[in-house]
Amino acid sequence: MIKTNYYSSNIDLMNHFKKFINWKEIIESYEDNFSDFLEYQESGNDKLSNAPSNLEEAISYYESILDSAGDICGNIVSENVSTMDKIGARYENGKVTLPKELVSSYNKMKEAGLIPYGIQRKYGGLGVPFVVRALLGEILYRVDTSFAIAVGCANLAEILERSASEEMKNEWIPKLANAEYVCSMGLTEPNYGSDLPNITTKATEDSSGKWVLNGTKRFITQASGVGDIPSIILTLARTGGAGARGLSFFLVQSKDVQIAGIEKKLGLHASPTCEVVLENTPGLLIGEKGFGLIKYTMNMLNGARMGIASQGVGMAQAALEEAKIFAKSRIQFGKPISEIPAIKSMLRKIEREIIAMRLLMIEGGRAVDLYYWRGEQLKKKGMNEKDISKDEKIKYFQKLADFLTPTSKFYCAEMANEVIYDALQVHGGSGFTEDYDISRIYRDARITTIYDGTSQIQVMAAIGTIITGMNENGQLRKFLDDLILEFNPTSLLKKIYEEFKIIVPIFKSIEPTQIRESFNKDLVETTARIICSILFEKTSNLLEGVEKSERLSQAKEYELDTIALLYGNKEKWKLIIE
Ligand SMILES: Cc1cc2nc3c(=O)[nH]c(=O)nc-3n(C[C@H](O)[C@H](O)[C@H](O)COP(=O)(O)OP(=O)(O)OC[C@H]3O[C@@H](n4cnc5c(N)ncnc54)[C@H](O)[C@@H]3O)c2cc1C
Repeated sequence: MIKTNYYSSNIDLMNHFKKFINWKEIIESYEDNFSDFLEYQESGNDKLSNAPSNLEEAISYYESILDSAGDICGNIVSENVSTMDKIGARYENGKVTLPKELVSSYNKMKEAGLIPYGIQRKYGGLGVPFVVRALLGEILYRVDTSFAIAVGCANLAEILERSASEEMKNEWIPKLANAEYVCSMGLTEPNYGSDLPNITTKATEDSSGKWVLNGTKRFITQASGVGDIPSIILTLARTGGAGARGLSFFLVQSKDVQIAGIEKKLGLHASPTCEVVLENTPGLLIGEKGFGLIKYTMNMLNGARMGIASQGVGMAQAALEEAKIFAKSRIQFGKPISEIPAIKSMLRKIEREIIAMRLLMIEGGRAVDLYYWRGEQLKKKGMNEKDISKDEKIKYFQKLADFLTPTSKFYCAEMANEVIYDALQVHGGSGFTEDYDISRIYRDARITTIYDGTSQIQVMAAIGTIITGMNENGQLRKFLDDLILEFNPTSLLKKIYEEFKIIVPIFKSIEPTQIRESFNKDLVETTARIICSILFEKTSNLLEGVEKSERLSQAKEYELDTIALLYGNKEKWKLIIE
């Protein structure tokens, strides 16, 4: 892997941080008038000592985290990843052992205090908004997915922050922030993956109000912990009748379960994917009974899905850098292959697709920041949940986040696989050998379209918003109209947007429904590309000089690919209707 700071060497990422992101709106929503700092002044609570006191301090605090993670990932962990992958996670006599290189890489992040990035300061976390978490995720996943998952899993604590009782929060979240425990998601079962409403693991309550769980969970990442650090498994189990309403959410400790084995996998060799047997295993009920799937798991998965969008961007960036270096040094026909038009155009495509993916990932993070933290602020002021949900700004950005989350998970995962395929192609036969990092990146990327909800499930979650949202007064239409009004779009972009408004009604008129549904993926992909096209031009206009004209020309190439997809779909759907 390339050895460099994965933050400061990434110009597009830095441009987002320094020029594109509207920090004022994010910080107003997240820092709540710098309430952590004010509380620190009053109480002297050590956990709040790093809280920023103004806008500039907040920006520089967030950037220092990215820079420090970029340095550790790029300059230290990058040296370990090939060995981690070759050794892999091992299972013997009921015990999982991870490669020592993974554990030492994890410990580097722990020593630097970078593990609890998704945990609030009051519990000992770093306290950063979702946009920063998205950028940080990109940096972590760029170096290695098994490592990034190990580091990231403590941050599932966020769901405890949202849903657990005060007592449970105060007991467990600090332990996760201190890396005394890691966290894992116990959802999937041998017979139920996408079909979570029908899982069968059962939780029963005894007369003293204590819960025990029985059942088997499959594919549970990190259920065995990291090195000597145990895990808490956030487990979905049935407490009532059939379907989603009969499911509740429990905190289970890894010491109380049996790890029956780990999977032998195509990729993520250093990440343990565990079969977990629960036999009269004690569990603590999280939140209210009956909301396990419809509220807590969905909230947890939404966070995880934004993480997969970051994974797609980070892995694609890693593949691009590997391909660029290879193409410069590989000589064929007397010149570096980077000078051959077919290779040049592949590298250029990878680069512009990564720019687009990053834009979508950040827009998703922004939408979550603008609704979620505003809701938390109103809660602190004593407003009840019902009134909070009526707040116009919250309603708007929550709906947008609910759409952008599956859309960016779907698009970044699918596109990462497409461009990593090209990056391997640039390597020729060498890319197919284990001598080059690209083969590991290629294997590891394959899971992005599958876990935390497959691409097909993301499409199902996103399609409704496009169909209703593009009506005359629909929310998606308003979002896109407002975006395009923020700058002076090129005639190509205007044309693309007009065409998009035309194809949605054509799509809607495809009958019967079953046939229309078979094109859902095409419409979600097209919509993602429309959003990216607009954001691509908008942000390029914030640059100056050569940098601006170069990025605008990449935006144009991206738009040309988008209009080809649009026209293709339009003609196909028109022919079906006729
Ligand atoms: C490496 C790895 C790590 C994982 N980590 C975790 C973890 O930490 N915790 C956890 O709980 N789970 C984890 N999983 C499980 C993962 O989330 C599931 O594999 C995934 O949700 C898909 O479920 P499945 O494998 O049962 O596939 P299935 O649900 O059987 O799907 C098979 C195919 O059918 C399609 N399909 C199914 N239903 C529909 C539908 N209604 N509409 C359209 N298409 C549909 C799917 O898209 C897919 O293409 C992990 C899996 C792997 C491989």
